Amino acid sequence: MHPPTALKKRLNELGLRSRLRAHPRTQGRILAPAGLLRRLPSAPGLYFPFYHDVLPAYAGDLRRHLRTLSRHGPMIGWDEALAVLAGDKPLTGPMFCLSFDDAHLSWRDVAAPILLEMKVPAMFFLTSGMVGQQGNLTWQDCRQLSAAGFQFGSHTVTHHRLADQDDETAAREIRDSKREIEDELGIEVTDFAAPYGHPAVDFRERDVRVARDAGYRSFATTLRPAMHPGDSPMWIRRQGLHPAWPIMAVRTRVHD
Ligand SMILES: [Zn+2]
Repeated sequence: MHPPTALKKRLNELGLRSRLRAHPRTQGRILAPAGLLRRLPSAPGLYFPFYHDVLPAYAGDLRRHLRTLSRHGPMIGWDEALAVLAGDKPLTGPMFCLSFDDAHLSWRDVAAPILLEMKVPAMFFLTSGMVGQQGNLTWQDCRQLSAAGFQFGSHTVTHHRLADQDDETAAREIRDSKREIEDELGIEVTDFAAPYGHPAVDFRERDVRVARDAGYRSFATTLRPAMHPGDSPMWIRRQGLHPAWPIMAVRTRVHD
């Protein structure tokens, strides 16, 4: 185990990371100084920033993030991003492709109205087993978001860490979520995001293989560096953000 992983494990043990996650403004302030050494991208590169919940208190902050990013390059949809990776569309500068994970009710109430108003496309990676549970979207909500033009991908059934599952269970998480979202929304689901998203720790090569065999064309991780034409869509690198973070903190994740 190399030191950064050991440190990360230790921090997890201390519960610091989860405590900070529960206080995103504090987390953002702690991250911000490291943003001094970074700048938002100016060179050609494809970025996949993603969010989870967007509580009403952070609506203005999400707008600010999106306005800032869009000053650096266009916000494009998932299909267009995959076309850039395939070399079918030119990468003319920084480009941003937005996604949201889990099944948060705030996608309907807060995120979607902002995205529609700002004409920003987005992918929603849905944990199918969370749909209909308290505090989460219903299938009817998802159908309405889909009808409004948003894309849906799979984020497993239960949100368990795939790397911890035996072969059969992991395959069920990957395949059953696809089938259920397809049945409920009447669309084809071809994009997958692994819960937590770190290779080896959170998912294995096996899971990428199973996803490809199940008919997915893309597989998203939470590795952060920019992507370029020729990079594999079965290894999408996304940058996790929280709307409460100041732009200085965003710069620690989305940078040249
Ligand atoms: Zn998730």
